[in-house]
Amino acid sequence: MVELETAVVGQPRRLPWLAATVAAKIPETPEATTVLFDVPGWPGHRPGQHVDVRLTAEDGYQAQRSYSIASPPEASQLALTVQRLGDGEVSPYLTDEVRPGDLIELRGPIGGYFTWTVADGGPLLLVAGGSGVAPLMAMVRHRAAAGGGPPATLLYSSRSWDEIIFRDELAGLVVADDGLAVVHTLTRSQPPGWTGYGRRVDAAMLGEVFGPPTAGAVAYACGPTPLVERAATDLLALGYAPDRIRTERFGPSGG
Ligand SMILES: Cc1cc2nc3c(=O)[nH]c(=O)nc-3n(C[C@H](O)[C@H](O)[C@H](O)COP(=O)(O)OP(=O)(O)OC[C@H]3O[C@@H](n4cnc5c(N)ncnc54)[C@H](O)[C@@H]3O)c2cc1C
Repeated sequence: MVELETAVVGQPRRLPWLAATVAAKIPETPEATTVLFDVPGWPGHRPGQHVDVRLTAEDGYQAQRSYSIASPPEASQLALTVQRLGDGEVSPYLTDEVRPGDLIELRGPIGGYFTWTVADGGPLLLVAGGSGVAPLMAMVRHRAAAGGGPPATLLYSSRSWDEIIFRDELAGLVVADDGLAVVHTLTRSQPPGWTGYGRRVDAAMLGEVFGPPTAGAVAYACGPTPLVERAATDLLALGYAPDRIRTERFGPSGG
């Protein structure tokens, strides 16, 4: 689908493809890697937005996928955090093949609904599954860069301790800011002595972590489709208003 943005005059216009240079790669987990880009001409973004990435083979074959922006607007480089899917076409290329100095085409920022800044208020309730933490991390990082903001709670579902993306950074942000809470659930394996959640996100967990709806609360859920649909359904059942629940679905399979 051709992605359009609305220009000032109200006429939709096609976003241009930009040449982004790979500046660095940061291994996050055994399967997830952050790719940092320098993007001349980048117009800026809001936390929660994504880009389209387009790869072109020597024979002209092109593949295009969406990736959320994990960096906050305050950062000088654009960060995409990509989970490698073993049989995938694009994600293994981004995690394993690209090298600093490589040029990749991307366009954005895309998306106006799944966005949040401190000016939007809160409390901010975040539900992430796997690499679905990427756009929510842009919100958390933006909140930190702004020096705080409304209370924020991230409920983050990962398969195992080793697969928690941004684990150390999140822990550091929690220590530095008593307005931020991060609660992990580990769905497949838990380390010895683990006392946290060890199951998929459900209504009871959402109720315990977020409590009943409060004035101003806004929820964002992002990750595999089943997790996002479950979280949205359960938040509605807990009494959160439909227009205060925003969702982004990454893909077809479960985490
Ligand atoms: C708005 C948006 C933002 C996204 N942001 C990110 C991001 O920040 N980080 C990230 O890693 N991914 C993100 N994705 C998913 C990404 O666009 C690709 O779908 C994913 O990287 C797989 O692409 P691929 O070419 O490697 O796999 P493909 O060749 O497309 O598919 C390989 C196999 O994996 C299955 N599959 C495809 N996508 C997924 C998925 N997301 N989860 C599980 N199985 C899948 C397919 O059904 C197929 O069996 C986002 C998707 C959307 C729509």
